[in-house]
Amino acid sequence: MFLDTSNFWLKSLFPRRLWNLKPNDDSKIIYLTFDDGPIPEVTPMVLELLDQYNAKATFFCVGDNVKKHPQIFQSLLKKGHSVGNHTFHHKNGWNTNSIEYLEDVKQCGELFKTNWFRPPYGKLRPSQAKEIEKTYTIVMWDILSRDFDPSYTPEKCTEHVIKNIKSGSIVVFHDSIKASENMFPCLRITLKTFSEQGFVFKSL
Ligand SMILES: [Zn+2]
Repeated sequence: MFLDTSNFWLKSLFPRRLWNLKPNDDSKIIYLTFDDGPIPEVTPMVLELLDQYNAKATFFCVGDNVKKHPQIFQSLLKKGHSVGNHTFHHKNGWNTNSIEYLEDVKQCGELFKTNWFRPPYGKLRPSQAKEIEKTYTIVMWDILSRDFDPSYTPEKCTEHVIKNIKSGSIVVFHDSIKASENMFPCLRITLKTFSEQGFVFKSL
């Protein structure tokens, strides 16, 4: 269901999209991203955890959640994290006609300014992408934690992330209730393991 974009062919099919940010030198950087928030049940705990490692991240926010929880949204900015547009109603581009979809992107864009956009489920029609790329850089990922997947355990999520992460990786987590059971253990171990190896966590 969730588009698994770790495949090389997908990356070459959409070269304009951001898949990772491989540094030119040997610096060790990881880009953590969190989709679907901000929500009071999960996001503040994510922020606390990131603070412990002096980590910055990028939050792809659902407009409806930003509208409902403006203070949590402001705390993301205050702490120096980046934010991106994730549509207003978390629309699936494949199931939504382009006029309606682009209207939803615009509605989210009216709440806050950003250069970054991530399509929910990774699903976007070419006609939608073409329009969105006039305003935003579309940010995909090279590591999907699958924290949202009920058939995954925290151990399995963690193993997948730890095994595949490299400098410049863009990693997807979700600050949602559904994903939190997998996300928190996986995030904790990721932060600890790679901090110990000298990596820094940066926002886009
Ligand atoms: Zn999403």
